[in-house]
Amino acid sequence: MRELQKFYIGGQWVSAHSGMTHTMIDPSSEQLIGSVALGDVHDVDAAVAAARAAFPGWAGTDPAARIALIERMQQIYTARSEEMTKAISDEMGAPMELARTRQAPAALRHMNNFLEAMKHFEFVRPLGPHAPGDRILLQPIGVVGLITPWNWPMSQVALKVIPALLAGCTMVLKPSEFAPLSSQLLAEIIDEAGVPAGVFNLVQGDGQVAGARLVAHPDVTMISFTGSTRAGRSVIIGAADSFKRVALELGGKGANLVFADADEQAVERGVRQCFMNSGQSCNAPTRMLVELSAYERAVESARQVAEATTVGLSSDEGAHIGPVVSARQYEQIQSLIEAGIGEGARLVAGGCGRPAGFNSGYFVRPTVFADVSNDMRIAREEIFGPVLSIIPFEDEEDAVRIANDTPYGLTNYVQSGDGERRKRLARLLNSGMVEMNGQPRGAGSPFGGVRHSGGAREGGVWGLEEFLVVKSVSGWK
Ligand code: NAD
Repeated sequence: MRELQKFYIGGQWVSAHSGMTHTMIDPSSEQLIGSVALGDVHDVDAAVAAARAAFPGWAGTDPAARIALIERMQQIYTARSEEMTKAISDEMGAPMELARTRQAPAALRHMNNFLEAMKHFEFVRPLGPHAPGDRILLQPIGVVGLITPWNWPMSQVALKVIPALLAGCTMVLKPSEFAPLSSQLLAEIIDEAGVPAGVFNLVQGDGQVAGARLVAHPDVTMISFTGSTRAGRSVIIGAADSFKRVALELGGKGANLVFADADEQAVERGVRQCFMNSGQSCNAPTRMLVELSAYERAVESARQVAEATTVGLSSDEGAHIGPVVSARQYEQIQSLIEAGIGEGARLVAGGCGRPAGFNSGYFVRPTVFADVSNDMRIAREEIFGPVLSIIPFEDEEDAVRIANDTPYGLTNYVQSGDGERRKRLARLLNSGMVEMNGQPRGAGSPFGGVRHSGGAREGGVWGLEEFLVVKSVSGWK
């Protein structure tokens, strides 16, 4: 049993005030594995007060000292990476291989990228030769509230904590109540790396109480939030009274445009990417749009990939997909699969219920629907499970129309051998990111969306700038 009853506030592990707890359930077995204290207003206020007291000192440090802290964190994180792997696998059900090769190392990758961005980052910049006495200062925004989800827990946390530390901000992290273990371990790592008291604070808790208090707190100057579009809307409203800067990373319903001239692996790659992490990624390509002349071939290929996708326990080694995170997610996915069938989409693979051989655990059958129209619920709503919707299109214009017919705008994907078409589509697709021909975006590139996917940019130089305020100064010289 894992009992997390203390929060990291002002450099100390302190007992939670509220006495309320959230039970941790193993998504593979549905068995109780522990509990985590849920912070209340008192806990959040204590953490914000500690961050506020630490702000002038940390904001005034030389950037080299902040870089040195992250370098120490890198070493300790590397030494404890197997513990981190296990924590992530236990809390949200990622199979050990995925947790070890993708989930846990994501934080180290982000640390490297931010350190790289810091090498050339100028906190004091000239305006230009026409105004030799002017300077533009980039200064830490203040005390920041960081609220994160459970699906890529350490990736999301690192994308906020690392740039906030490097920018000179002090902070309160409130991770998802469904992923408390990894953040607890990260707090131990930051403590061991020698962070000054109050610079980094951790309060576990839910959204309704701890999250909402952080969002409304008058001494918090910015909220960096990653989570659902529904909660993102509450955050905007809750932050309005205190005029906070709000950086939002929200949901997605990415389109993957597969043209007849795409490479042979394009469909298989798209299905695997949709199912990765059991479909629990904001940037998953969940709508596969296929050119009519290649359509039936693509549907058949997607069926084969889905049927070859194995599902297994999170504690097992191997390249299988694991359960989804919770009973609530499981039920939500089941009801959307039912909706797809009810609305007349063609079920090509998978379907309702658990995969063969499972009587318990939040396991979902890898599911493919064809002949989906873009007004069906399975094409409009974020399912957050291993469920792919295939939609035919006639030509490029039709493909763009369907892809952009969504309130979301996080990542879209293009598969085509025609370079000029790829460049046209990269401009026309209404999203913060476009990934083409299976080429991953480079290290330090900005992650973020438009419209209902939120407008934050995380990672690299852009991720640092999120936590800085631009000050325009004359008479410097
Ligand atoms: P969620 O919105 O339920 O919770 C996210 C976090 O917000 C949690 O810490 C939760 O406790 C907190 N929260 C909930 N309601 C709140 C409120 N009213 N005020 C303050 N805090 C509140 O989302 P989830 O189920 O944890 O995560 C899945 C969602 O996150 C999906 O929609 C996914 O697309 C999105 N996501 C987006 C990105 C991105 O970078 N765009 C990355 C990962 C996940």
